[in-house]
Amino acid sequence: MAGEPQPDCLFCKIAAGEIPATVVRKTERFLAFRDIAPKAPVHVLVIPHVHYPNAAALAAAEPALAGELLAEAGAVARDEGLDDYRLIFNTGAGAGQTIFHAHVHVLGGKSMTERMV
Ligand code: 5GP
Ligand code: ZN
Repeated sequence: MAGEPQPDCLFCKIAAGEIPATVVRKTERFLAFRDIAPKAPVHVLVIPHVHYPNAAALAAAEPALAGELLAEAGAVARDEGLDDYRLIFNTGAGAGQTIFHAHVHVLGGKSMTERMV
């Protein structure tokens, strides 16, 4: 069934508490934790507990949950004291995605004016 945990997925294991992470926010449907290799002073990953390979697949299967993911990312930014921040969804290995469990990067805490696209 769609959304089921995948045995070889690192973020499924983090969501299940089988692998430790520095958790900053936990709700019934989402987990937010600090990136192990931060690219900015604040670098938090927000994941749904359910497994989808990327954000677009999540949105296609469960659009309401994808909307909640954005709200959750906003709540993380607020909790971290960020007014200005960047949300990134890497999708596909060619775009830098390395973990194929839907997640959004919340990046902030320094000048975020450098354009990436
Ligand atoms: P992606 O490149 O797939 O968009 O993002 C995956 C992110 O997960 C990377 O920024 C990487 O640093 C982070 N990451 C990889 N392994 C771990 C881990 O074991 N724990 C945590 N907290 N982050 C991880
Ligand atoms: Zn997963």
